[in-house]
Amino acid sequence: MRFSERLSGLFYPERCIRCGGRTEGKDVLTRLFCPSCAEAFKKACESQCTSCKRRRFECECVPDALFRAGINKSYACFAYDKERRSSPTSRLIFSLKDTGERRATALASHLLAWRIASSGLADAKEGEREDDIVITYVPRGRKNVRLYGEDHMRQASKAAAEMLHLGFSDVFENSSRGEQKGRNAAERGIAAAETFSLCRDADLAGKRLIITDDIITSGASLSVCASLAFGAGAREVSVFALAKAEKRRRQAKERA
Ligand SMILES: [Zn+2]
Ligand SMILES: [Zn+2]
Repeated sequence: MRFSERLSGLFYPERCIRCGGRTEGKDVLTRLFCPSCAEAFKKACESQCTSCKRRRFECECVPDALFRAGINKSYACFAYDKERRSSPTSRLIFSLKDTGERRATALASHLLAWRIASSGLADAKEGEREDDIVITYVPRGRKNVRLYGEDHMRQASKAAAEMLHLGFSDVFENSSRGEQKGRNAAERGIAAAETFSLCRDADLAGKRLIITDDIITSGASLSVCASLAFGAGAREVSVFALAKAEKRRRQAKERA
């Protein structure tokens, strides 16, 4: 924290990003949310996945697109429901994407590190060195990096790698001018295939790669990245996100 930020914190205590209430600031969660919003955030992580009935932070359900790319599990901490824009979990995602709020990046990196650690995939297997396990991220399009500043998932995954003492590397490039938002699954698949490529100096031979993203929606972007990684010699690829998109039932009028 910069001195100026520390100083302003004395006069303007940090506010909850959801309700504007006072935060207690004891840890990464209670610096971002007031006590009641922090409690609601925890409940969201503990709610059940509608498919496997496990708690969200234990669910390993994987979208079809990822399964077809050779990934049979995917890990996240909570569900993302785009209709519920004011939920504490949605607020975290928007804060990360749209404002690059440092406190949001701090919480995101802790959540990722904790989810990766609890999956057991951060532990070096026999004959494996810590830097044989590499964490990377699905990069944001250049236009959005220009618009919003830094790439929030780069920041969060780099910090998570540091916490876990694992390697970190820029592996993928995103040449897209837009985001996947508003596209259906088929459109996402086509767009993703044209969007991502490997960084020229990406060295994945024999590595175990952990790819992070903010939200797993159709899995299109992650499955393209996973295929690129396998093509470059990655031995194993696993995917982690903060959230998995909740599938909603179609509205009645759409069925008519
Ligand atoms: Zn609050
Ligand atoms: Zn599940």
